[in-house]
Formats: sequence, structure tokens, C-alpha cells
Amino acid sequence: MTDESEEKMRLRVISTKAAILARDLLIIKGLYSSIDTSDEIGAVAEQKLRTASIGTFDCYCTKCRKETSFIVSAMPVPHTGGGLRNGNALANPPTLFALRAVCQRDLTSYLYVFHKAEKRVLKIGQAPSMADISFGELQGIDSSVDPLDRKELGTAIGLFAHDAASGAFVYLRRVFERMIARAHTKRIEAGGDPIADFDKMRVDEKVGALAEQLPERAVRNRAVFSVLSAGIHELTDEQCLALFPVVKAVIFQMLEEEEHMRKKQIAEREADAAFQALLSNGFGSAATAGDDERPQG
Ligand SMILES: [Zn+2]
Repeated sequence: MTDESEEKMRLRVISTKAAILARDLLIIKGLYSSIDTSDEIGAVAEQKLRTASIGTFDCYCTKCRKETSFIVSAMPVPHTGGGLRNGNALANPPTLFALRAVCQRDLTSYLYVFHKAEKRVLKIGQAPSMADISFGELQGIDSSVDPLDRKELGTAIGLFAHDAASGAFVYLRRVFERMIARAHTKRIEAGGDPIADFDKMRVDEKVGALAEQLPERAVRNRAVFSVLSAGIHELTDEQCLALFPVVKAVIFQMLEEEEHMRKKQIAEREADAAFQALLSNGFGSAATAGDDERPQG
């Protein structure tokens, strides 16, 4: 590779990493989280936020009540009043800037405000809040959730929205571990063999062993969960922050699948009952006669 193409490649990697950093600050990190802009990736991330050039992202929409695509645009923040007159040049570039992300399905707006201080870009405002978005997501699959799971998921989401990642993760991990144990029970109830030494397995091994009961994406990426086998106190804040959205996404997928199964069972039961009612009203005799007339072989 020439020096020029190597440099292009390097810049592309930095741009991708910066876009992820900027997007995470918007939709994953809580209020008062920040990006360190003293390194190149952070500086590019700041530019991407200021110019709203982070592309589209998928996020739960509180109005549509499902995950939709959002497109980001920059919102001007006027710097007037407080002694500033029209035409007064500010000595420094504005330290406040804002973004609007718009749901492409129903044009719901999510608003974000950032503050640049020293070498950091800080998220100082967001509406709707992280908690509103996450709780909305939880309500969508509320009916099938075990009350203890619901309570602890709510606690986890609330703590995470207030930037207490480690505390949030303790609760999320408990919900996750119970779901893994339930998946094992379900496998046995469905006539499968119990997995040998299940309790002694690492979390990633349990996820792999329960491939049929767990979301396919979680199984494929089970290496991510290997770190969960460490004691909760051994995980750093950064690890908790990085793992929270991943584990939460798997939990929501599992809950959705559980609800889907539950609805399917109800629909099947109702259909069976309706057929039984028809049969007991004499509808069955014609169908049985029809079967007898069908040619054999
Ligand atoms: Zn929407």
C-alpha cells in the first residue's frame, strides 16, 4: 500500500470509530456522559455531532412504540441577550450546540443539547429522557414479564439513565441469569436432556449450550458474554457501560420471543376450542364423510 492509501484507510477507521462514539453518546449513554476530544477520534466525533453528520441510527420510538430509523439534523442555538448585541462577535466559538433526531416513520423528534468544556463534549440535555425511551420499550412487552424481572429491569434502566452503569448492570445481570436458567428449564420441559454440569459452565458456554432456546444473534456472538463469568465487582465501569446495551438488547429479544410464543399458544388454544365447538354442533360429520370418499394411496 502507498502512504497515501494507508492514510486514507487510517482516516476511514477513525471516522467509523468517531461515528460510533457520537451515536453512543446520543442513544446509549446517560445525561452528563461525555466524549474526550483530546484525541483524534474524539475530535472527529465532536465535529460529527456539531455538523450532524452521523448518518441514520435505529432507536426505540416512544410514539411508534417500536424500533425505527432516526435521521439527525443540527439545530442552531442563538447566542443573544445577556449583554450580547446583534453583530457582537463572541470571543470563543459557542460552547452549546443542539441536535434533533427525527423518526422517519412518524416524524417524532428527539432533542439533544451538548456543552463543550475544556477537552470534553458533555451531553447536558435530552428529551425524551433515556428512562422514558427505555421504559417505553419495556411497556411494549410488559404483559408477559415476570414481576421480579420487570421490577429489576426497571431498576436497571433507571440507574443506567442516571449514569450509574455498575449498579444498573448488577440488576440487568440478575435478570439475564434468571432468563438463562429459565431457558434451561424450558429445554428440559420440552423433552430435551439437561445440560451436564450446567451450573459450573461459564456464561458464554451456557449461551452456546442453549442455542435452540436463545436468540440466534446472542448465540452467534456469545464470546461477548464470557466476561460475565467474572464476579460483578471485577467488572470495570467501562465494561458495565459497554455491556449494558448488549445484554439489555438480548433480554428484550428473549422477552419478545417469549411473548410471541405465549400469543401463539393462546391463538392455537382458541382455534382448538372453536373447532371443538363446531364439531360438537355436528359440523364434523360432513368432513368425516368427505375423508372417506378420498381415493386411497
Ligand atoms: Zn416514530
